[in-house]
Amino acid sequence: MTETVLETEGLKKYYGSTLALDHLNLQIPQGCICGFVGRNGAGKTTAIKLMLGLLRPTAGSSRLLGCDSQQLKPAIRQRIGYVTEGHRLFRWMSINELEKFQRAFFPKQWDDKFFADMIEYFGLPRKRKIKHLSNGERAQVSLALALAPNPELLIMDDPTLGLDTAIRRQFLEGMIELIMREGRTVLFSSHILGDVERVSDRIVVIDKGVLRANCSLEEFRAAIKKVVLSFADSTPAEVDIDGLLHCRSSEKELELILVGTADEQIAEWAKSNRAQKHQIAQMNLEDQFIEYTAPPNHRRLFRWEEK
Ligand code: ATP
Repeated sequence: MTETVLETEGLKKYYGSTLALDHLNLQIPQGCICGFVGRNGAGKTTAIKLMLGLLRPTAGSSRLLGCDSQQLKPAIRQRIGYVTEGHRLFRWMSINELEKFQRAFFPKQWDDKFFADMIEYFGLPRKRKIKHLSNGERAQVSLALALAPNPELLIMDDPTLGLDTAIRRQFLEGMIELIMREGRTVLFSSHILGDVERVSDRIVVIDKGVLRANCSLEEFRAAIKKVVLSFADSTPAEVDIDGLLHCRSSEKELELILVGTADEQIAEWAKSNRAQKHQIAQMNLEDQFIEYTAPPNHRRLFRWEEK
């Protein structure tokens, strides 16, 4: 049976009167790369900090590697890697000094060769001080430092923020390198859905502090569909199809966003509503995420009007 390495139960956080996280129930199995996505202010950083015991919940609890987040013992912490948003590192230290400093916390687990290989792979100047590195280089140092102790669980908060495409790819490949070490688990938040699509096998979506999805990427990709239907005269007055999330209509065309509706059901509905034709349009993960988290009465802000 797959072990659950990260779990939260009714996790809730208020900052003053702001509800940042509302009753989060989450279970992440061992051995997956999990993309944690949500719009700005959705509660990702709050959830991550609560999971790591860096914040106190208003209610609920969470456990990492079977241990309550509020009571993580050093022995458990040593099995967890954390990359913070913005890669906060001691700026006055060189990469070499930082390695030495960090290694002291993990005397038994630090993998010198792995750290050296990562630094070489990223082409980083070992003697240069952190304050003289670019944002991307700092991110790479952060990743190398987080991976060198060979953590069983790696949690990263928007680790690729501000990195260019090539560096982002390199960074993510570094992550995959980790997961290739058997049984490792990664949870990373990101706004770049293309990255999530490329490296994750699981996705967690939160919206305004509320969990909206926690499933395999495959399930999420298969569940959200865009259907375009055209009609000879006019569109039906009422659209009553299971799983309807959004409906946009023009005079003779309907665009439906559906969740979990089977293709056969769509075909049947199209037929019984006398659609001339219907087409299930291709969507990438970014389109699916945007539609899935759009408010119910969402309309596009701009629409190209052909003259
Ligand atoms: P982003 O993607 O923009 O980084 P996020 O999903 O990580 O956002 P959080 O940083 O967890 O979101 O913030 C969730 C909500 O809690 C937001 O409304 C934010 O304004 C609020 N919030 C976060 N930290 C504090 C704080 N220290 N005091 C008050 N409100 C806060």
